[in-house]
Amino acid sequence: SLEHPLQIRAIAAQLLGDATTVFTEPSESSKTTVQSLLALPIFYADDVMAVLYLDSPRLYCFSHLQQTFLRTLQLQLGLALKSAICLSRALTDDLTGVFSRNMLEEHITQAMDQAKRYGHPCSLIFLDIDNFKQINDVHGHLVGDEVLKKVARLMLSAARKTDVVGRLGGEEFVLLLSGTALHGAVQHAERLRQDIAELLLPVRGQPQPLQITASLGVAEYHTALHNLAYRFIECADQAMYQAKRSGKNRVCQHKPSQHQLTATEL
Ligand code: GH3
Ligand code: MG
Ligand code: MG
Repeated sequence: SLEHPLQIRAIAAQLLGDATTVFTEPSESSKTTVQSLLALPIFYADDVMAVLYLDSPRLYCFSHLQQTFLRTLQLQLGLALKSAICLSRALTDDLTGVFSRNMLEEHITQAMDQAKRYGHPCSLIFLDIDNFKQINDVHGHLVGDEVLKKVARLMLSAARKTDVVGRLGGEEFVLLLSGTALHGAVQHAERLRQDIAELLLPVRGQPQPLQITASLGVAEYHTALHNLAYRFIECADQAMYQAKRSGKNRVCQHKPSQHQLTATEL
């Protein structure tokens, strides 16, 4: 009963919610002269994720063998698409699109390895939004989420190709600057702090836009960190806490203690 590609398209649109993102417009000739048509939903469990659509102006175009092949492809594509979606969810933070904690730690470990091997500098910026709980309490979680997205976008737009932005959780982000020593990282953090303080975030029903601030801690790689990402993050975290204790909305740098510089135990 499905005789026209546009009909298929409409049904796919119902299945997928927004078919225009998956379909290209049928060509002029296929709109009028379709004689053979195959539309295979690509699904995993009960989820239709895409529709594989083929048409031809030739009658009985798809041979039995081709149909069998396409049905096998249909099953394989469902699995492949599902794994790709799961993988991308594991690598990136759903809400903000920056790297997830695991992936961030992976990048930090690699950067520490490079820094040790080639003697390149490498720094971390730990960013924590100030009074974020209050933003949630006063304006609601959805506004809180928008703030997180905005801060992540700002961090990404200020990052160089080699920099890595990740979300540790909650309102805490980390920026990995490979090839950047402490001084350069502090300057970058200060620019980020200013850009965040200058953001004007319109909130529905509020006459004034919301303004936010963040506290940032900066740490530079040193060999006594033993290529342990969590230790490097800890150093930047300590500096960030110093910024909180000093009154928030500021940048502090980590000064490794003699003990930290000489420690050999893990
Ligand atoms: P400080 O200035 O000392 O950093 O205080 P704060 O309020 O920013 O920090 P606190 O740790 O007290 O609160 C963090 C809040 O972040 C609490 C939690 O409900 C909220 N939060 C964590 N994850 C999310 C999220 O994904 N979305 C939203 N909207 N809120 C979140
Ligand atoms: Mg926090
Ligand atoms: Mg906070």
